[in-house]
Amino acid sequence: MIGDPVLAFDQVCVRFGDTEVLRSVTAEVADARVTVLAGPSGSGKTTLLRLCNRLEVPSQGTVRFRGEDLDDLDPLALRRRVGMVFQRPTLFPGTIAENFAVAAPEGAAEYEGRLASVGLPTDWLDRPADDLSGGEAQRACLARTLLTRPEVLLMDEPTSSLDPAATRTLEDLGVELARSGLAVVWVSHDLAQVRRIADDCLVLRDGRVADAEDAREYLADRDPPGGGGRGGAP
Ligand code: ADP
Ligand code: MG
Repeated sequence: MIGDPVLAFDQVCVRFGDTEVLRSVTAEVADARVTVLAGPSGSGKTTLLRLCNRLEVPSQGTVRFRGEDLDDLDPLALRRRVGMVFQRPTLFPGTIAENFAVAAPEGAAEYEGRLASVGLPTDWLDRPADDLSGGEAQRACLARTLLTRPEVLLMDEPTSSLDPAATRTLEDLGVELARSGLAVVWVSHDLAQVRRIADDCLVLRDGRVADAEDAREYLADRDPPGGGGRGGAP
């Protein structure tokens, strides 16, 4: 990796009761790139993502943000620097402006620019969040997260409830944000999507980071049904 990683996992384990969900994960995330966390359902992707902003804590090992152990950082301050967009849009009832005010009460001057940056009309601030389509709502969630000016953007399967057009729009935004300097960590189990957006790819299998051969096999062989990958005739 060129330069210091923004996030570093060192032999991280996570246990829920007797179940070991992550097993000795060692990995790094770089600035200005899209790092995709891929792997089958249940492999630990969401848990790894939630470790990045302390929604989860390791049972063993350390997670560092810019060299500092997350144990030593204030979780609320951390969550402004490491923002998250969830699988389904999480706007609350009220206008878009009211949703933005929760994230950035002092930032009203930036609201219109933020809407524009995610491709939504700037005169939508007074629109009720309930009126938005799934794709529009997810873009508004992204805008709300960006208002805290995060250095890292965590995206947990953010397109899983979106149609293909809305999916492509969000993918393009994620890539654009990485090009502008953000570290984007994007969870996906859609291999066609992984191929479209990943600069770096971390494959999880049963809570472990797959070695290079396993990762290649997973990424090459497991096209989703009807997906645009290179599966098909041998
Ligand atoms: P993925 O996002 O790859 O589908 P998750 O990180 O959500 O995987 O989950 C990995 C495993 O950990 C799954 O078997 C899941 O059931 C389990 N798990 C996740 N969160 C908890 C929890 N809070 N308590 C117990 N088990 C959990
Ligand atoms: Mg998940």
